[in-house]
Amino acid sequence: MGIAENYAAALKRIAGACARAGRRPEEVTLVAVTKTVEVAAIREAFQAGVRHFGENRVQEAGDKITGLMDIRPAFTFHMVGHLQSNKAGLAAKLFDVIESVDSVKLARALNSRTARPLPVLLEVNVAGEAGKSGMKTDAVAAASREIALLERLKVEGLMTVAPVVGSPEMVRPVFRQLRELRDSLGLKHLSMGMTGDFEVAIEEGATMVRIGRAIFAPPR
Ligand SMILES: *Cc1c(COP(=O)(O)O)cnc(C)c1O
Repeated sequence: MGIAENYAAALKRIAGACARAGRRPEEVTLVAVTKTVEVAAIREAFQAGVRHFGENRVQEAGDKITGLMDIRPAFTFHMVGHLQSNKAGLAAKLFDVIESVDSVKLARALNSRTARPLPVLLEVNVAGEAGKSGMKTDAVAAASREIALLERLKVEGLMTVAPVVGSPEMVRPVFRQLRELRDSLGLKHLSMGMTGDFEVAIEEGATMVRIGRAIFAPPR
């Protein structure tokens, strides 16, 4: 299967998960994650209809974007990977939304390096995994309040990368916990779910799913 077919199949699975959960497919945005993917394949996905792309490294995103300038105004570019404060300026220039704000320090750096309003999500390490980025759940409310005071940052929701486990059902409680946290903060977006678990994430309320392999990986 090619990229267009993969994309169509992913949309179908999203629609199925929405139907099971009594949700509308328009409530869920598919963000195609293009790390390690060539510019030609990104173009192919764009031609198939993808309008949200995600990258996890500033350097790689910067290298690729020069080859996509003709279509750049027509898609939304998401930063989904760990971001260091010293790359905040470049990230704010490259991306339309930063999904991986994991500290007040990084939020301040982004705020001071951007001239325009910048939508952000707060990344949460829901399961408290060691060595993984993201705020601890009990730190999110205070951080969100502080970040909301920064003039140019718009806190639009929460994001998580779920633990890698044997079956998607095992991460359902993680997704549910993030949704409850999002609700308690009165935020809009919930970015959760990847190739291995996006249907469960949608059943638990995801508004953005970040999908890489299901769209770009060659068939096995
Ligand atoms: C790579 C990546 C994804 C996509 O993962 P797949 O398993 O390929 O769908 C989503 N989110 C983040 C933060 C990633 O780094």
